[in-house]
Parts: sequence; C-alpha cells; structure tokens
Amino acid sequence: MIKYSDFLEKIQKKETTCVDFTREILDNIEKNKHLNVFITVCGEKALAQAAESDKRFSEGNPRKLEGMIVAVKDNISTKGIRTTCASRMLENFEPIYDATAVERLMAEGAIIIGKTNLDEFAMGSSNETSYFGNVLNPINNEYTPGGSSGGSAAAVAAGLCHVALGSDTGGSVRQPAAFCGTIGLKPTYGRISRWGLVAFASSLDQIGILSADAADTARMLDVISGADAKDSTCANMPPSQTFDRLSNSPEKFTFGVISNELLNNCSTDIIDAYNFYVEKLKSLGGEPRVISLTNPKIWIPTYNILATAEASSNLSRYDGVRYGFRAEGEDDFVTRTRSEGFGMEVKRRIMLGTFVLSSGYYDAYYTKAQKARRLIYDDYNRIFNEVDVLLMPTTPTPPFKIGEKINDPIAMYYSDLFTISANLAAIPAISFPAGSSADGLPIGLQLQSKHYNEDILLQLSNALSK
Ligand code: GLN
Repeated sequence: MIKYSDFLEKIQKKETTCVDFTREILDNIEKNKHLNVFITVCGEKALAQAAESDKRFSEGNPRKLEGMIVAVKDNISTKGIRTTCASRMLENFEPIYDATAVERLMAEGAIIIGKTNLDEFAMGSSNETSYFGNVLNPINNEYTPGGSSGGSAAAVAAGLCHVALGSDTGGSVRQPAAFCGTIGLKPTYGRISRWGLVAFASSLDQIGILSADAADTARMLDVISGADAKDSTCANMPPSQTFDRLSNSPEKFTFGVISNELLNNCSTDIIDAYNFYVEKLKSLGGEPRVISLTNPKIWIPTYNILATAEASSNLSRYDGVRYGFRAEGEDDFVTRTRSEGFGMEVKRRIMLGTFVLSSGYYDAYYTKAQKARRLIYDDYNRIFNEVDVLLMPTTPTPPFKIGEKINDPIAMYYSDLFTISANLAAIPAISFPAGSSADGLPIGLQLQSKHYNEDILLQLSNALSK
C-alpha cells in the first residue's frame, strides 16, 4: 500500500515527479490486470493532470490534494469517463457531469487514475455480481475482496492508488476494507454530497473513503465533505477539518463493548482480534462499558426490506428509453431491456422491493420496516449518550473464498450483520485493519460514533495504527 504523505515527502526531496509516479502506478495497474480491479483506466487524462500537478509543485502553489492518485468506484459519475455501475445496462454510458465529490477532489489537484469494479449497482458483498467479472483479493487470489466496493479496496491494497472512493449502503466500504486490510470510512449520512452517486437505496447510500492511512482519509474527507446545493439530503454544514486535528485523540474516552452473545456470531479469529483491541483501546485511555443493543436481530430484515424497496424504485429509470442499453426491436422492448440488461442479483432485489411496496403488503413490510428503523436509530442515540464510540467487528468472518457464498444469497446477506445498522441509524463508522487470521487473511474491526463525529473515528484509528 502507498501513502500520500510518503509521496509528498518524495516530491519535496525531488526523488520523484507526479508524472513519473503516475507512470509507475499505470505500470503497476498493467502488471496487476489479473486482479480485475479497474473497469476503466484513465491513463492519458491522469498523465495530463499529473503534468499540471508538477507545474503547481514547481511554482510553489500546490493544492490540498496535489498529485494524489485516486481510484473512483464506477457508480460515481465522472464527466466524459464511462460510468458503468458494473452493469450491462450502463456498459457504454458516459455521464455529462462529475459527481460533487469528484469535482471537489479534482479542484484540489487529485488525479483520477481509473474507475473501479464493483458488484452490479453496488448490490453484493463479494464483487461477484459484476457484469465485468469478479475481482481477486490481492492478499490471496483465491478469496473475494469483499463488496460492493471490492475494486476500490483491492486498488488500495495492491498499491494502485493512494486513496479510493467507494459507496456504502449497508457496508460496501467497510466490509471490503476489512477483507483487503485497508481503512474504510463511511461518514454520517449527509456528510458528503450524493450528487452524482448512482442511487441504490437513497436513504442509506453514502460515499465513503478507502485508504492505507487515517491521515489520507482525513485529507480526502476535508475536501469532499460539506454542504451542496445539488443534494438536498446533504447536511448544511461546512466541510470537516479532521486532518489538522488528527493527533488530538482524546486522552480519556468511553467505548462500548458488545455482549458475548452478539460477538459469538463471529469466528474465533474475529473474537480474538476484538478482545485484543479492547485492551488496546484501554491503553489509549478508553474506559470500556458493556453495551446491550436491544435489537440486532431486526437489522438484516429491516435493511433488506428498505434497501430493496428503494432500489426497485430507483432502478425503474433504466427502461431502454433514457439511459444506456436498449434491447433490439419494438415489441416489449422495456421488458426485454430490463431482462437482458440487469443481472441476477439486481433482478432479485427489484422483485423483492416491488413485492414489499405492493399495495397489499406495503403496511406489513415497508411501513413496519420504517418503524423498525426508528427503533434502531433510537437505540444508537441511547448508546451514544452512554459512550463516545462503539467497538464492533466489521464482519463475522475473515474473507471468504470466491464461489463460497454466491449461490446462497441469505448467507451472503448475513455477512453484512455488523455493518448495516450504521446505515440504518445514519451514523459514521470506520473499519480499521486489526491484524490477520490464522490463514494470514486480513481482519478489520469497526468503530462507530454519533452523527457527524468522524473526527474521533479517524483520531482513534490513527492512534491504534501507531
Ligand atoms: N452488501 C450489502 C448489499 O448487498 C451492502 C451493499 C452496499 O453497501 N452497497 O446490499
């Protein structure tokens, strides 16, 4: 993995230039083609941006992210650069505008190196539902990199970028970060504009950041967060200022520890890592308190009703008239476009979502799930009156093998057990690297905190990495 801070040092010592460095990365991408990380590589554009960065450095006026190599998940809109959502439906779709996050990072001198592979429309936990084929975990190629931001996590882990953008609707930044040994931050809902993020479940979706280093995540967050007139669900707040405060980790804090009953859903590798990090947090000045979460059993059902309901509505726009793929011929072309354009998992979710929204079942499923979501939200509010942060596993197990769960959707959905509650409660959460399993595979653990308190998550992750 490569860190932007190390790169800046090399630039200052004149040991490299942005153009040379970008070339090196492009070579590495070529050498790692078998991982299937990128759907599109933006070589020429990246080199042009790098030349501009070199000029800025030599003139002594670099911008905040000058020369930072960024990979962008391919469900985030990039002007003139194909944005596919890893779907046949958008195989050749070129947006006419940049996502706000992309616009902001480019305005500060970051270089877009390419668009990363993902589960189709961000639906999945293994990157196996992509129309462009699955991604291999760079640590061990027999394993999945997690999903749906599997390409972004693999890009960071394989050193093919400094920082990657992902999206997290139910864990899609944190789970692949855990599987690939990187940091993955899902900010508070509304912290980063969703303008240009292709909608999956709009009330849960949030752009997130994957990187090797809390400092790099903080730098990126400070640039892309903050109010945006183009997204009415984006909080009317100034951008974060976490980078400057990164070392101000609190000397005393309280942290929540989950009950053994909940922890016992995990494999022993994860339980051991969890207990080890309880001690580490204590050594940083943390006081543990056992927290009872009143309703973990309802997390997965609630998520699967709300996420599929919203997805079925959001995806109705792909009809062959307005965007992307259109089936041949005139008769029934809408039906055929959708049958041929979407993959299995996406269809499953559209059908589930349509069912829970249908008039006879709306109250029994959708209304009930909305009420359940409120309980989860209130539960977290209660918890964060008691503690500053909550320590959770990111995943119940270390990475699983390619093919292991793809034919068992329920087992796949359960791998999100510990991540989806943060989306339902709209709180920020971070997955940080927490050692490896007996088989040498990465393990991640998660810290969650109250709304808009990304600072403490990055401060503690930074302190824990020392
Ligand atoms: N794995 C979850 C799902 O398939 C989360 C996806 C996401 O966060 N985009 O729904």
